[in-house]
Amino acid sequence: MKTIDDYNFDDKKALIRVDFNVPLDKNFEVTDTTRIEAAKPTIIKVLEDGGSAVLMSHLGRPKGERKPELSLSHIRETVSAVLGVEVKFVADCVGPEAEKAAAELKSGQILLLENLRFYSEEEKGDEEFARQLSSLGDIYVNDAFGTAHRAHASTTIVANFFPSNKCFGYLLAKEIKAIEKVMRTGEKPVTAILGGAKVSSKITIIDNILDKIDHLIIGGGMTYTFIKAQGGAIGDSICEDDKMDLALEILKTAKEKGVEVHLPTDVLAAEAFAADAQTQLVDVREIPKSWQGLDVGPQTLVKFKEVILNSRTILWNGPVGVFEMEKFANGTIEIGNYIHKATESGAFSLVGGGDSVSAVKQFGFQDKVSYVSTGGGAMLESLEGKTLPGIAAILEA
Ligand code: AMP
Repeated sequence: MKTIDDYNFDDKKALIRVDFNVPLDKNFEVTDTTRIEAAKPTIIKVLEDGGSAVLMSHLGRPKGERKPELSLSHIRETVSAVLGVEVKFVADCVGPEAEKAAAELKSGQILLLENLRFYSEEEKGDEEFARQLSSLGDIYVNDAFGTAHRAHASTTIVANFFPSNKCFGYLLAKEIKAIEKVMRTGEKPVTAILGGAKVSSKITIIDNILDKIDHLIIGGGMTYTFIKAQGGAIGDSICEDDKMDLALEILKTAKEKGVEVHLPTDVLAAEAFAADAQTQLVDVREIPKSWQGLDVGPQTLVKFKEVILNSRTILWNGPVGVFEMEKFANGTIEIGNYIHKATESGAFSLVGGGDSVSAVKQFGFQDKVSYVSTGGGAMLESLEGKTLPGIAAILEA
């Protein structure tokens, strides 16, 4: 696996695919610089080697149109401030203007290209568009994990034009290693904690990881499909009736593979799906009519804690309750605390995919786990066992 450390960028131009798809407020100010900060080490390494950096990214969904509100010019100043280097901007990402700006770039300088998705060719993975992008640099660096599952021109196709001069940036390399650690090289026992709303959105992940884990903790809305399938009364809890057979199948396969499955035994049930709803703790199999389970209960947490603290490798995807409402956030917060404890004792913990990352941020767990993945969809597809085109394109000779 070639990373940026395998190259010396002295006098070279790095064409770097970054993920600067950052949130902007109504005055076009960047409200969260996490993604820019995440790309910083890669960009600085290129400059410190004596090279220059051409940065390309998308912003929002302009769908092939030049939408001024989605111009990357809005973020130029913020990128300069985060990187500590004045960043140049060019109002195109291909064509004569972009080529001229790239050609004039000197060692130590950074050029930010205009939004790639102003061209529909980007998302189509157009070969000619990718060729034009490739003319802007000597070495292609992909550091955008969030788009690595897309076969777009700048994330995948462009790599074909750099048969021997292409590599992963630090951020992407870290993501790949973290996933490897959980899926292949992690110390046992390996525990996966899966939550979130639906079985249907997690089923491919479960299928793929059953071979790799020792414990499967199930929480969140998914719980009730499993409980109902086993004959429990779940009241009005969220349930996918058409996935009940699948749930039983999962339990059977897990048993055959020697994976211990841990489902909640008690839950905090509410009279309505509302922040101020009446609540009561009940047995997960005896949820009263018209009540719904919205968080895991204390007895469940005792068991989950024991399993997590005994794990050496932990994957967490999806909250175990409706954490957006304070009343139902306790289980998710506690899971974060147990993972923190396990990590302190030397376990490797990876949190990734969609809402678990917002939960981690909301409760300040990002520094308490080993790794928080930044790529929602890309992370989920990796856990599902898919080969991401953006990663394959760098690995291919
Ligand atoms: P996902 O994107 O699949 O990880 O789902 C995350 C969502 O699942 C969050 O918005 C949670 O509020 C929701 N969720 C978690 N537990 C429950 C539950 N018991 N009932 C309904 N929704 C839930």
